[in-house]
Amino acid sequence: MNTQEYKLFISEVKKSLLEKKILKYTDNELFLKSLFSNYSYARKIAANIRVKNINNIEENIILLDKKFNENKININWALDYDNLNTKIIKYLNNNKIKDINIIETNFTRELGIDKSLNEEGFSINGENNDLVIFQPLYLISNTGSLFLNFSSYSQMNMVLNSKHKLFIIPFSDIIRNQKDIEILLKLYYSNKYNEEFGSYSSIYTPLNDINIEVYIIDNGRTNLLETRENRKALTCFDCDACKLNCPVYQLIGDKPYNNVFTGPYANVVLPYLENIDSYKHLSFNCILCGNCTNVCPLNIPLKSLMISNRNMFYEMKYIGLKYRNKIKRLKNYLISRKKLNSKQWKKTLYFNIFIERQNKNNRILPVFSKLSLNQIIEKENEIQ
Ligand code: SF4
Repeated sequence: MNTQEYKLFISEVKKSLLEKKILKYTDNELFLKSLFSNYSYARKIAANIRVKNINNIEENIILLDKKFNENKININWALDYDNLNTKIIKYLNNNKIKDINIIETNFTRELGIDKSLNEEGFSINGENNDLVIFQPLYLISNTGSLFLNFSSYSQMNMVLNSKHKLFIIPFSDIIRNQKDIEILLKLYYSNKYNEEFGSYSSIYTPLNDINIEVYIIDNGRTNLLETRENRKALTCFDCDACKLNCPVYQLIGDKPYNNVFTGPYANVVLPYLENIDSYKHLSFNCILCGNCTNVCPLNIPLKSLMISNRNMFYEMKYIGLKYRNKIKRLKNYLISRKKLNSKQWKKTLYFNIFIERQNKNNRILPVFSKLSLNQIIEKENEIQ
């Protein structure tokens, strides 16, 4: 299939998925257009803000540390969950706290906080308002503030009225300027909840309070800092738009991932956040339709990041020799117009011998049509 044929094929797939209402992004498009005078410009601005903050992360961290120190609020750094766990347990024991409230987010699930504190004998989510563990949406480095976003009034009440507050956040959610939050928040809410803004949010600048601790956590994210392209993945604000518009995710759902990260974003980042060997296959779990990239409000180039993962895993020989040879043979076959235009039986024979035979445990190969798409188009042109 040449590029043009592939594009045609993908647009047909998209059309049929839209007809079957498997692709949903058209539903949200009207709402977004009504909210932003120029939606694509808003995306560009937001993407620039996030990328700039990630590219200047060292500077931002130094400033953040300085501001929080000036305000006499403790900042703690944790490389991974074990590291965080030790620090939190030390704090709980020093303050003789047994009951903890944890507001669950994807990040707390990623770290497995409630499960392990439970195993250590702490009681989770009781009546007591002694201590809360909460994830702010952003840390603002030039004011030493936290941007808190609550799902309800009672959640806001609980967090702000807890005697001890432990705030946990990945380092990638540090931003420099408070004024940048407005556009990020508007894009986040409109994509995640179809709403303009959340009702309960607050900029919180704690001062001189020994009962507040901020924990900034890496948990594998620095692996994504290595290349400029991969850094863009760290700008994600977890709006789920890519997932909702991914035809593969619509079919397979969360389960095969066995992780809190799922969908196209997971395909890109899990090999770095967890390990390449167990998650390299995810980058191949994609038909490259580009829907995720088209809808991502932060313009994260998910499709091209998946392609670079594929190339990298291939080049670095993370893919076994047998499979690498198969890819090589397939590639040579698929880029040859002559071979693709050959007789149906010839193609079937070739694939049965060189691909199917090594593919026994997987899917049955599709049946070739009598004519290739290229031949069909040529024929139609002749008739016209
Ligand atoms: S990658 Fe983009 S679309 Fe997907 S969850 Fe992140 S911000 Fe949303």
